[in-house]
Parts: sequence; C-alpha cells; structure tokens
Amino acid sequence: MSYPDTYYRRTMTDEKVRPVLNGTADCDTVIIGAGLAGLTTALQLARAGQSVIVLEAESVGFGASGRNGGFVSPGFATGGGDIARMAGPEAARKIHLLSIEGVDFIRETIRELGIEAAHPQPGITSVLRHDDGESLKTHAQHMARDYGYELEYLDRDQVRSVLKSNRYFQGLRDARAFHIHPLNYLRAIAAEIERLGGHIYEGTPAAAADLDGPEKIVRTTTGLVKARQVVFTTGGYTGGVNRRLKRAFLPIATYVMLSEEAPDLIRQAIATTDAIGDNRRAGDYYRLVDGGRRILWGGRITTRAASPATLAGELRREMTGTYPQLSGLKTELAWSGLMSYARHLMPQIGEMQPGVWHCTAFGGHGLNTTAIGGKLVAEGILGQSDRHALFKPFGLSWAGGVAGLAVAQLTYWKLQAQDWWRERAA
Ligand SMILES: Cc1cc2nc3c(=O)[nH]c(=O)nc-3n(C[C@H](O)[C@H](O)[C@H](O)COP(=O)(O)OP(=O)(O)OC[C@H]3O[C@@H](n4cnc5c(N)ncnc54)[C@H](O)[C@@H]3O)c2cc1C
Repeated sequence: MSYPDTYYRRTMTDEKVRPVLNGTADCDTVIIGAGLAGLTTALQLARAGQSVIVLEAESVGFGASGRNGGFVSPGFATGGGDIARMAGPEAARKIHLLSIEGVDFIRETIRELGIEAAHPQPGITSVLRHDDGESLKTHAQHMARDYGYELEYLDRDQVRSVLKSNRYFQGLRDARAFHIHPLNYLRAIAAEIERLGGHIYEGTPAAAADLDGPEKIVRTTTGLVKARQVVFTTGGYTGGVNRRLKRAFLPIATYVMLSEEAPDLIRQAIATTDAIGDNRRAGDYYRLVDGGRRILWGGRITTRAASPATLAGELRREMTGTYPQLSGLKTELAWSGLMSYARHLMPQIGEMQPGVWHCTAFGGHGLNTTAIGGKLVAEGILGQSDRHALFKPFGLSWAGGVAGLAVAQLTYWKLQAQDWWRERAA
C-alpha cells in the first residue's frame, strides 16, 4: 500500500489493499484518480445504479485528499468578489450556495454511512492577526443577510480566552463547519462504492486514453477499460494522459506537521476543540487531534518540491511565534501534498468533449468543493442537471507552465509581505 508517512496513515482504520487491473473491463463510467473528487463522482454514479470503475495510480487517498488539514467549510480557494467579477453576481451567489451544499454533503454522508472513524468535530474559528473587528461584523452580517448563514462574532477577550496568544484579535466562529480525518472518510466512501457494485483498482495508473469515439478506451500497463464516459479527477498529480488538463493547472505543494503528544503543554496554549485558521492571505491553520494530545499545524506553499522537514522548521517558527509557551513542543512528523491550481483559482468542472469530463483544480479549499464537483459531474452524466455549467466561466485555459509557477511563487511572497506589513501596523 503506497502512502506517505502521515498522521492519517498512522491512524487509518481500514487496511484493505485493492487489486491491480489485469485484462479488459467494461463499465458505464471510468474514473481516473481515487481522491475526493473521483470517489464522490463514483459514489453518486454507483448510487444511481451505474457500473463504475475507478483507476488509482497508487492507493485510495494517496493524493491531497488523504493528507490535508481536514477543514470542511464553505467557500472556494478564491474570494466571493473575484468569483463575482469572473461569473457575475447572480452566478457567484449560486456558486457560493453550492459550496455550502458541499459541506452539508460531507456531514450527511458521514451520518448516513456511519463513518465514525472520520471523527467529525464541529466548529471552525477564523481569527484576525490585526485589530479590525468591524470588518468581521460586516462579513457576518453579509453572510446572514445573503445566505441565511450564521457566524458568531468573537471579541478579542473571547478569542484570547481559548487561544492564549497576544497575536490574535477578533474572530468569527462557524458552528456549521467541522473538521475530519479525511483519509478514513475517503476509505469509507471507497468501501461504499464497492458495496454498491463498483470496482476500484489500485497501483493502476491510466497510461493512455482514446477518447474520440462513443466508446472510450483507457489503457493501463496491465489492462484496459472500455466505457461510455470518462472522468479525470487527478488533481495536483495530473500527468500527461490528458494533455489539455495538464496544461491547465499548476501543482502547488503545501505542508503539515504533527506535534509530539503533550496534552498538558498544549492546553496552556489552545483550549478549544475548534479548528483554527488565521485571516492572513498566506496564513496558518491548525487543530488538536488525538483527543487534544497533539497539534496538527499546516501552512506555507512552494512551487518546487521542498523537503517537509525544512518546511516543518518554518511552520514551527510560526507556531512558537504565535504561542511562545509551545517552544518546548517537539515536532514528530511532517509531510507535504500537491494541490492543483488553475490561473483563475477556481475549480475546473465540466465536459471537455462528449463523454469526457474533468473535475479538478480545487486548490487549498477542496473538501467541500470536491464534494460538489463530484455531485455535479455525476448529475451531468446521469442527465439529471446541468448545474456543472455554472463553472463554465472558469475554463481550462493554459496555466502558464514554468512561468506560471514563477508568478505563483512571487504572488505568494507578495501576500506574505503584505500580511507582515498589516500585522506590523496593527
Ligand atoms: C497538505 C494539504 C492540506 C490541505 N488542507 C485542506 C483543508 O483543510 N481543507 C480543504 O478544504 N482543503 C484542503 N486541502 C486541499 C484538498 O485536500 C484538495 O483540494 C483535494 O483533496 C483535491 O482532491 P482531488 O480528488 O482533486 O485530488 P487528489 O486527492 O490529489 O487525488 C488525485 C488522485 O489521482 C491519482 N492519479 C493521478 N494521475 C493518475 C493516473 N494517470 N491514473 C490513475 N490515478 C492517477 C493520484 O494518485 C491521486 O490519488 C489541502 C491540501 C493539502 C495538500
């Protein structure tokens, strides 16, 4: 079973190893990539009675879906203002409602399938690192008025009573958002797809595809699949099988570290079960895991693979800069994962040619958005809706290759500098 060494791998509850595809197989829809996007699509199609085959190059959840922060909250990798500029205000409103539907889908799926090992824990609090409570109150009013979505405003004392850091000012608590063990969630979805008659092959990279006729053929090194529909859900790990898709995204690495077990020390800094994110555009996010015995802390992006150990040093400096009382807390483990970003920072969801679908580029906000991506593609394949058309404004344009990566890194550094300036001025 090929997985990096992560907290999620160490606490994975189901060890099932799935076979490599050997020979020829037929199905209604073949899905390439067993992350959240691929398996949500497969689940919805299998629930509707389709025969599905999922091809995964490594193991279920090997990619970003099995190694992320586990935050499930509404929204996208870019803000509502940008979405409205690209798609228009009415479409932006519908798209935001979809992002809330994605959160509800994960909550409901965990409940329906009884996925206890996903450990859903309610509450995500977003905190400011500069003094500006009015902007948060305005945002909370906007969410309540336009979406009927309630956020609880926390003043500075309320924030600091649970997050013992003088770096923090006001916050907004989202009680409907939650955090999960993403790998256990995903593996339970895989089991449900198989219970419904679907097939998942691991260690089976799609190597070539003939997509032009009504019958699509996807070849692997040891077999081939014939299907009426193909869905590409290869995220930040997309290779050359579909050249159009490969040109349209940038792989961006991001990092997570896990502390040693130290519940008493950790309690001196963080006294909440909420997951926490700070408001900086290049900010950090963290939450307690293992019943409060450890901290899982994420942040930073790079456009070139850097060693997780080096980046863990940076994350640790962030953590102890925020909570000096944690300076004795050791890091036990660090890992990285690749996210897929389009130039417009929005998901790429749609039918690129008859019977060929893509559902990718969810960036760093992928838990809720892969859920709706999978749902919308399944609805499109089943002829139940054309809601995927809402994502037409965010196409498969060229992401810029190496130059695009350089621009992404420069933009990130610029955002970091702006964050630093804003905090310094606070
Ligand atoms: C460290 C980290 C932290 C994050 N934290 C959060 C968070 O807290 N909240 C949030 O909302 N989002 C978060 N994200 C983003 C989120 O995890 C991703 O957006 C989401 O998981 C993407 O899912 P996916 O299915 O598109 O891609 P992936 O999960 O990457 O899956 C793609 C799969 O395709 C497979 N594949 C690739 N090529 C082939 C091929 N040729 N044949 C067969 N299989 C192939 C890969 O092996 C992989 O398993 C984070 C991401 C990272 C990396």
